[in-house]
Order: sequence, then structure tokens, then C-alpha cells
Amino acid sequence: MREWFPDDQACRDYLAGLRWPEGFSCPACGSGSHWRTAKDLRMCAECGLKTSVTAGTIFHRSHTPLSTWFAAVWLVTSQKNGVSAQGLQDVLGFGSYETAWAWLHKLRRAMVRPERDLIGGQDGAPVVELDQSFLGGKTAGQAGGGSDKVPITIAVERTAAGRLGRVRLEVADKVGGLDMIEFATQVIAPGTTIHTDGARMFQRFPGLGYPHEATPSTKNSYAVEDRDAVMPGPHLVSSLLKRWTAGTLHYRLSQAHLPYYLDEFTFRFNRRNSRARGMLFYRLLQQAVDTDPHPLKDLIGG
Ligand SMILES: [Zn+2]
Repeated sequence: MREWFPDDQACRDYLAGLRWPEGFSCPACGSGSHWRTAKDLRMCAECGLKTSVTAGTIFHRSHTPLSTWFAAVWLVTSQKNGVSAQGLQDVLGFGSYETAWAWLHKLRRAMVRPERDLIGGQDGAPVVELDQSFLGGKTAGQAGGGSDKVPITIAVERTAAGRLGRVRLEVADKVGGLDMIEFATQVIAPGTTIHTDGARMFQRFPGLGYPHEATPSTKNSYAVEDRDAVMPGPHLVSSLLKRWTAGTLHYRLSQAHLPYYLDEFTFRFNRRNSRARGMLFYRLLQQAVDTDPHPLKDLIGG
């Protein structure tokens, strides 16, 4: 890390390569001819606009040196399970937990790709397994120990070799709701076989352009043993998700931010076989320069 990115200039040069892979082009007029100013801004030769490499990215107006951001991205991507806000605060020596928390949330925003590829389809797997699971548990301290379990819809590829491929996750409106169908049609390529349990609503899939396979559940319940037999792929994803949230996040999960934790899990899961950790670092930074700034007030607002 230190050899590659000894100072902020090295970081800016790296980001410039990610942001303008074909060379600089002015965000206002599209012209490529420009000068570099003393403050390392790019000044358009046509219209005179000055642009910094971080303007309009998640690093926009950050007062922290870019090399510290790069260190955070490296911590997030180099460890299999990522890093908690507390862990980031300890390692980078931030004054407050809130700063570390906000940084992780900014990075999570960059883990979502606006133009995500559909799973399944010709380049993916022939079958996608679709099911729901729960995340969360009893709320400590709440009167009566109210349950804050949240239903999560899981769609995971099953490759021709029988392995699990890429995953997509969503916080569901309610258990077994029709939003499962809507989610499936948004994330799965048409023509892909969708495998579900025997619930009636899934019989709509052929009419929507998806061949459908059902494994009826004998008990028609959400009991653990039953789900494992009926929907092994989503069941495995669900246990990994639970283990990750428990181990990395120490249950500091807020429901309002849950979709972004799901994004981080998805980012990691879909790259779990990547041999080079550096590839995750590269991808996350590549997506970070392509992600709008998220001021702290927006993050807290959910
Ligand atoms: Zn211009």
C-alpha cells in the first residue's frame, strides 16, 4: 500500500486513471485538452472549467487526506469479512466513532453498481434459486423483547456444475409478499429458470418469461431444517449473511441502513472466489469515483 500510494499525489493519479480511463474529458463541454494547475486541478482549455479528480465522487470535499481514504478502502477490501466502524476508528485513529461509521457508509454506497448486471442468463447460471430468510432478532431493552426480524429476499445463481454463483438481496416488504416476484423480475435475466418452494404465487413466473421449478415444502414452514432441504442455496447464503452481520457488525445493524449492509455482503459474496484482494480494492475505488457524494446528513437521514 505504502509503496504504491506514498502520498496524495499518487492517490489522485490513480483515481484519475479510474475516472478518465480514455484520458481527461471536461464534465461541462467534453473537451479533452486541458492544463494541470499548481493545485492539481484540471483546467479545460476550451471553457476554462476547473475540475478536481475527486469532485462529484464520494471523496468530494473530504478534508481527510486521500491516502487515509485509500487505507480505509484497503482495510475494507483486504480482509475477508471487512471491518467494523469500531475497527476502522481504532486502526486509522479517528477521533470519533461517527466519522468511521460515516466513512464505511460512504464506501457501501459505492458497492452498489447502478448498472448492475442481471443474474442468470446466458453469461450467468441456468438456474436461480429464490427464497426468503430473516435477519435480526429480539431487540434488547425493548419492553416485552419485541422482535425486529426483517424478511430478506435472496436470489442466488446455481451454476451448471451445481455451485453457487452471484447473489442479489433485498429487504422484503413482508413475508411471502408479491414483492418477491417483482424483485426477481428486476434482478434475474428473462429465460433463466427460477427455482422456488411450492408457494402458489410463484406459478406466475412462466407467464413472465421465466421457466419455473418448484420443490414443494412438506411442512410449508420456515423451519431451518426444512428450508435447507427445499432451498439449499438461499439457505446457505442466509447463514453466511447472519454470520457476517454477527461477526463483523456486532449486531449494530439499523433497519434503515440494512439495504446498504446487504450491498456490502453482496459485494463480498460475489467476489468471494477472487484470488487477488487487490482486485476488490480496484473495483471499489473504480465504483467510488463513479458514485455521487453523500454528505453525512444524508446518510443519517437514511
Ligand atoms: Zn470544458
